[in-house]
Amino acid sequence: MVDLVGQYQKIKSEIDEAVLNVIGSSAYINGPEVQSLSRELEAYLDVKHVIPCANGTDALQVAMMALGLKPGDEVITTSFTFIATAEVIALLGLTPVLVDVLPDTFNIDPEAIKNAITPKTKAIVPVHLFGQCADMEEILAIAKEHNLFVIEDTCQAIGAEYTFSDGTVKKAGAMGDVAGVSFFPSKNLGCYGDGGAIFTNNDELAEQLKVVVNHGMTVRYYHDYVGVNSRLDSIQAAILRIKLNKLDEYTAERQRAASYYTQAFAGCKKISTPATGENTTHVFHQYTLVLNDVDREGLQKHLGDKGIPAPIYYPVPLHMQKAYIDPRYNEGDFPVTEKLCKEVISLPMHTELDEEQLKFITDSVLEFVNR
Ligand SMILES: *Cc1c(COP(=O)(O)O)cnc(C)c1O
Repeated sequence: MVDLVGQYQKIKSEIDEAVLNVIGSSAYINGPEVQSLSRELEAYLDVKHVIPCANGTDALQVAMMALGLKPGDEVITTSFTFIATAEVIALLGLTPVLVDVLPDTFNIDPEAIKNAITPKTKAIVPVHLFGQCADMEEILAIAKEHNLFVIEDTCQAIGAEYTFSDGTVKKAGAMGDVAGVSFFPSKNLGCYGDGGAIFTNNDELAEQLKVVVNHGMTVRYYHDYVGVNSRLDSIQAAILRIKLNKLDEYTAERQRAASYYTQAFAGCKKISTPATGENTTHVFHQYTLVLNDVDREGLQKHLGDKGIPAPIYYPVPLHMQKAYIDPRYNEGDFPVTEKLCKEVISLPMHTELDEEQLKFITDSVLEFVNR
């Protein structure tokens, strides 16, 4: 699915030098590399504050803690996402309120958000799924009207851009009150271990985020809040700084691979290729097809036999995950999500796909589908 070694080989000398420098410096935690990465990400995203942390899941949890969300508060999010989004809501004793997604972009449906709002609703968590922004203009308007926080889960969409109707362009993660990103190795901006960051334009919230990630500590050894320990280490920051410089190039490589796939499948009625929403760019964290009347397991096996991985993101809607079974929800409540879970399949997507590989993959898919 990803070729991290191939990507590393191309930047090996730079990476090796940066990593060895950190080891030689002994500033392993919160060293200058971490500070520099934060400043460079702030510039790249055009946000005021970037607070690094240990992973994307923590980023979302810390954001909710710093906003002061309390048990019983309802948080609206999508039924079609990676589990981490709902997991942190549940862990904090907040109530996840799930809503369906749009069939073309797979992103949270703003109309469904409106219908899910109650007096207990405190926040909306849009997920910019697979690399394109949710409909943020609508979502921010709903949030404003009902006085709700917007927490962007931008783990899959760093670098994506959203254009508002007044022409303003903003990056994913720079639009809500706060956003969380993951630097997991296979994410679009990935380090060589775990990593994450939280973004905000709000000065006060930024201070609180820094307190929460550091054991709720305001003054050394004075703990005013119950916090967590969530840090990005300096070696990962050094690697991320090099890769951030290349992020736009990497995104272009992903987009090039995506357009090859889309062209190759254009004539095939049994395959729906991913649609990009009107106001957003797509950075293709995943390239995900919807199959119409195709034996998905058969296709997966056919591709697997040829050495082509083709995973299902995601096979089970959140409301049907065992740990999240809830009497409020039944099978059939989120028809778009449920249909997608049965019909989607993702193809290899990374920065090192060459034309020969792309042709082999698309030929192999079509060979099975057109049988
Ligand atoms: C990867 C991911 C996360 C979690 O990030 P980690 O760094 O693995 O903790 C959260 N939400 C979404 C949508 C993700 O894809």
